[in-house]
Parts: sequence; structure tokens; C-alpha cells
Amino acid sequence: MAKENTDDLCVPKRILERLKQHGISVAINEKGRGLIADRDFEAGTILIRSVPFSSAVAGKHIQEFCNKCGLKKEVKKCSRCNYVRYCSKDCQVSAWPSHKKECDYIKSCLDIFTKVLPINSLLVLRTLEMNEIEKLKQGIQDRELCPELEMLESHRDKFLELKLNDAKHTTYEIVTRTYKPFLRDRGYIITDNTVFDVHCKLAVNANAIQGDHCETVSSGLFPEQTLLNHSCRPNCLNCFRGLEVLLVASRDIICGEELTINYIDIIKPVWERRSQLKEKSHFSCVCQRCVEEELIEEDRTRWTRLDKIYEEYVNGNSRYLLNLSSTIIDLEFKDVQSDIFEVLVLRLTFEAYIELNEIEKALSHIQQLIEISQKYETIYSHDLSTVFVRQAELMAQLNLRKEAKQVLEIAKRPIEIIYGKEHSWYIQLLRINDRLI
Ligand SMILES: [Zn+2]
Ligand SMILES: [Zn+2]
Ligand SMILES: [Zn+2]
Repeated sequence: MAKENTDDLCVPKRILERLKQHGISVAINEKGRGLIADRDFEAGTILIRSVPFSSAVAGKHIQEFCNKCGLKKEVKKCSRCNYVRYCSKDCQVSAWPSHKKECDYIKSCLDIFTKVLPINSLLVLRTLEMNEIEKLKQGIQDRELCPELEMLESHRDKFLELKLNDAKHTTYEIVTRTYKPFLRDRGYIITDNTVFDVHCKLAVNANAIQGDHCETVSSGLFPEQTLLNHSCRPNCLNCFRGLEVLLVASRDIICGEELTINYIDIIKPVWERRSQLKEKSHFSCVCQRCVEEELIEEDRTRWTRLDKIYEEYVNGNSRYLLNLSSTIIDLEFKDVQSDIFEVLVLRLTFEAYIELNEIEKALSHIQQLIEISQKYETIYSHDLSTVFVRQAELMAQLNLRKEAKQVLEIAKRPIEIIYGKEHSWYIQLLRINDRLI
């Protein structure tokens, strides 16, 4: 990636400077803007820690998560709006200056916020609000958007193509109908154009903030993060601590390399990855892995059968699952060139063996799983790091103490960096370790 004149990048100076302090710069290549490493980073390094420009807990999780710190804790409702929750007096007090502006409004149209919409409507409201605050702070009068929002891609034309009754438009309609007059009452002059633009930009750029079990609990806009491009063989991953996001090197990175994350689940076949990326991010992936894998002829009917196995597994039918998956392993893996299918089947079979209490078989499957998965992911990934903990647990059950300890040693730092010391995975790891002493 060639270094550009910073004005061509359309990235606010303060973002460029912050990135630079962390050894990262912005450059342009055929994909558009991207981030590059200005120095070497070892696997597991936290490159940068970011707080969101705006964020909101998703409607269906509002009862479990603190609206200020984003953590899952025992929470109490705001007594005025009876909607947003806080984990402590501290969180409530520090959130009040901004919450007081939206509190009565939320109360007046609670039904909007409790609906589960494709784009979090509270996020749109708060982003519009932050835009006004930033414009005031930065003395911007001649433009509709502050630089942090201005820099974002919107794919506006794609949204205009959508029929107006499409689900993606629901939030936009609600925003225009209700928030705009509300914001106008408070002295902000917000045009339809701004509302539509912010809506489109959030649809493309907002980050899903993941909870303890990688489920989406909030969404947030992290302007620096939006500069990261996708790869199906990424060298970084995002790790969440409440509303904060940590960008972590998932493998060793060499100075000059582009920093990439995965926008979608990469343990999927190439056609599925491409279709998801097209749908979600409006581009067709031509990363090296996609190019290599598009040459592989695969029988797609097998994938339909795999879906059926997943269904049986969810229904708790372990024996059925086991028969079916060992059949698939025996009969179909011999001439398969893509291992993704095997990874997915192995994930299921080891669980099934655990459920059937056949621990030795579970362990041998988990070992195969780790071996094949490493073609696609490093131990610095949400899934694979936890598979190591599961492996240690099985070893401990079989009294393979030395082996279990070695595995825990390998997994300890990745689990700590990815999930944090308070997370149940880290606690589980310590517990297994204690049992081995
Ligand atoms: Zn809190
Ligand atoms: Zn309130
Ligand atoms: Zn790709």
C-alpha cells in the first residue's frame, strides 16, 4: 500500500495522529483505504484500544446490560424512562449528562425502542446527537456532518435501490418520523438528507459489540475501526471489554503489512463467504484464500446435509448426530480438498462424544479439529482459543495431567487477551489448572 498525502485520505487529523501513536498508518490500495502496520507486531499484541463515537445496547438485551459501561451485570432501571439500565450509581451518574437529553423522549415512545430493528434505532439517535455536539465543539457550521462521520462510506445508492417496505428502511422511517422533530425541538437543524446519510453510514459501518458468548449485545460506531479491511485470512481480531474494543494481532505482523479482520465467519465455504460479504458489505472478496478456494469443485449438497446434522444436534439427538457425522467423515473426506467441511463436522462430533461420555474419542476428535482449524485460524481467535480449554478439560478428565497443563499454558494468554480475566473462559481455565495441582 502506498502512503498518500493525508488530505486525500479524508480521515480526520486526530484519528491519523492517534493511529500513528500506536504504530499504524492509513493508506490507499485497490480496496480503498486501509490500515497498515508501521512496525512489527507479535501475535497477541493489543494494537489499539478504542471507545465508540456512539453506542447502544440492542433492544432485546436492554434488561441485562449496563447502558454506560456495556457490561453484563445486575442492572437497575432509570426511574424516569423505565427503559435503560445501569450497573452502578457511578455508571448512572456519568451517563446522565447525555441520557437526560433522550430520557423523556424514550419514555414517550417506548415501543420504538423495544422493537428489534435491523439497525439499532437508539444508535441512530445518539449518533445524530453526537454529530451536533462534535460540530459545535469543532466549530463546524458549513457542513452537515462532523469529520468522524463525513469520512465513512455510506453505499447510499444501494439503500436507495431498496424498496421502501424493505426491513432495512424501517429504522430510517422511524427516525425521520419521530427523532427529527425531537432533535429540532432542541435547536438542532437536521435535514432529511443528514438523517438518511447517518442511517446508511451506520448500516455499513457500525460494529456489532459482542457479549460473553460472542452474541451481539450492542452496536457501536468506532471510526478508526471502520478503516480496517476484511480478509478471509486475517491478521487481527477485535476483542470486546464492555463497550471498548481492542484490536489484537492474531498472528505475527511484519512492518508494512495491511491490518485485516474478518467481517464474517471465516469457517464457511468460499461461495457462502462471498455471498455474505456482498449482502453485508457490498463487495466481492478476492483475498488470496478466496482466489485459491474458488478453483476447488465442491459438492454443495453435502452442506445441506451438514445443516441437517446441526439441526439434530440442536435438538439434542447425539446418537443420530454421531452416526451421521462419522459416516460423513469416513465416506466423504478422502477426496475433499477444502477442510472447512471437516472442521464443521469435527466441531459437532467432539461435542456429541462428550455428550455420550466417550471422553477418549472426544479428545481424539478435538485434536484433529485443532490441527485442521489451524489452517484457517490461529489460537488468537474466539473459537479456537476456547477449543484448547475444552481439550485441556478432557485431558484432565482422563488424568493426562502433564498434557493438560501444557495445553493450558498455551491457551492462557490468548484467553486472557481475547476474553479478559473476568470472563467465564478465563475462570474455567484457572479452575482446570487448580484441579491439576
Ligand atoms: Zn456499568
Ligand atoms: Zn431514563
Ligand atoms: Zn476472501
